Amino acid sequence: MKKGIHPEYKEVTVRCACGNTFKTGSVKDELKVEICSECHPFYTGKQKRTEKGGRIDKFKKKYGME
Ligand SMILES: [Zn+2]
Repeated sequence: MKKGIHPEYKEVTVRCACGNTFKTGSVKDELKVEICSECHPFYTGKQKRTEKGGRIDKFKKKYGME
């Protein structure tokens, strides 16, 4: 097996603004993101201002989902 046969797509380390790093496939040597699955509220279920109860309803109303 020779290296460099498929240089256009390789494994790279993505660095997030939160300090998390993870591997993904990309044509680039390095990726930087401002938000990732480790710090995005949508994935973590956490928010800086946590409201118990009614948060989802507010969200739906805000974005016209109901
Ligand atoms: Zn992150």
